[in-house]
Amino acid sequence: MAPRRDHPDLLIVGGGPAGGSAAITAASRGLWVVLVERDGSATERPGESLHPGIEPLLGQFGLAGRLGTVVGARHPGVWITWNGSARFEPFGSDAGGAWRGFQVRRTALHGLLLARAAELGAEIRQPARVTGANRSPDGFWDVETDAGALRCRMLVDASGDARWLDRRLSGPLTPRSPRLLARFGHAEGSCPARDEAPALESLPDGWLWTARVGPDRYAWVRLAVGGEPGRETPAAFAALRPSGPSRGADVTWHLAERPAGPGWFLVGDAAARLDPLSSHGVLKAIMSGMMAAHFAAAILQEGAAPEAAEAQYRSWLHGWFEADAERLAGFYRQLGLAEFGPLGSTLSVTPELV
Ligand SMILES: Cc1cc2nc3c(=O)[nH]c(=O)nc-3n(C[C@H](O)[C@H](O)[C@H](O)COP(=O)(O)OP(=O)(O)OC[C@H]3O[C@@H](n4cnc5c(N)ncnc54)[C@H](O)[C@@H]3O)c2cc1C
Repeated sequence: MAPRRDHPDLLIVGGGPAGGSAAITAASRGLWVVLVERDGSATERPGESLHPGIEPLLGQFGLAGRLGTVVGARHPGVWITWNGSARFEPFGSDAGGAWRGFQVRRTALHGLLLARAAELGAEIRQPARVTGANRSPDGFWDVETDAGALRCRMLVDASGDARWLDRRLSGPLTPRSPRLLARFGHAEGSCPARDEAPALESLPDGWLWTARVGPDRYAWVRLAVGGEPGRETPAAFAALRPSGPSRGADVTWHLAERPAGPGWFLVGDAAARLDPLSSHGVLKAIMSGMMAAHFAAAILQEGAAPEAAEAQYRSWLHGWFEADAERLAGFYRQLGLAEFGPLGSTLSVTPELV
């Protein structure tokens, strides 16, 4: 680890997958990292179905042998019933066999990432909330938290929907899709039809996702385009016991026009968000956290030009957003949802869509 300086190199706001991955990457590159997470470790979250592409990334973090502590189930693909046609879509395979996605407990995954960051020397302050930040003329950030003030050289906003820094820098978001609302809930018991793989089915105004996420535990997400998703337990889970009330989330797409600037990076959902149909939310959070931390290390340790690093990060982030957004819009067009344009058209990822 690099010798201690007077102030941390990097302050990361938020300890979800984006913040945890940024902390692991930056600490393993020798940066002095402080991560501040406002919620206690027990706050449960939706988003348990993870793409198999996450496995090699967690392996790079040194976590390959510890996944058993967070994984509730694994699955080789997804049953898809879309606009009347049904198919099983496998994730793929290689010489080692079929690729398998994960069902994880999100709190456990976040805990695993933060524990690994701490092992590598990152300071984790949890629960603590970042409440203010100003960049002083000497280039340092003066940051206020409810657990005290500190100075740092760079800020990484990994605060998810809170968009803590971006909200201050850029103000309100410009939505990049029609309004998309999700409803999600959990149920307990046995549903053998979902034990092999999750199921995704289209609805007239959106879709429904049902999955087994752990022993005797199942999750559902329903999304509506431009309206309110139904709150009822899905028919596939009619024989199960609901576990807690269902909850709602606004999952309208957004993309920060400027995801990096002098002394700061936005990562994960704070930088860009697509709805859960993309199935890449956590994967992209991890990748953007890693990418931003590498750029921060290059700037702080190797004298890389900040403007070039910012431009490369923006180009990478916008490139994947636009490709994924186009793919998703194609799915919605197949349902005849006029909000996404006619079948065969190309998505204009612009405010005119809204
Ligand atoms: C209903 C639903 C279902 C989903 N399903 C999936 C799925 O199956 N698979 C998938 O890959 N993705 C899924 N997603 C998307 C996925 O959950 C997100 O893309 C992912 O959590 C983004 O990670 P993040 O680290 O950017 O943000 P988050 O996970 O939201 O973490 C942000 C953290 O910042 C903290 N924070 C905020 N403000 C402050 C502050 N001021 N100070 C300190 N800390 C702060 C928060 O407490 C939080 O812990 C789903 C999303 C929803 C809403």
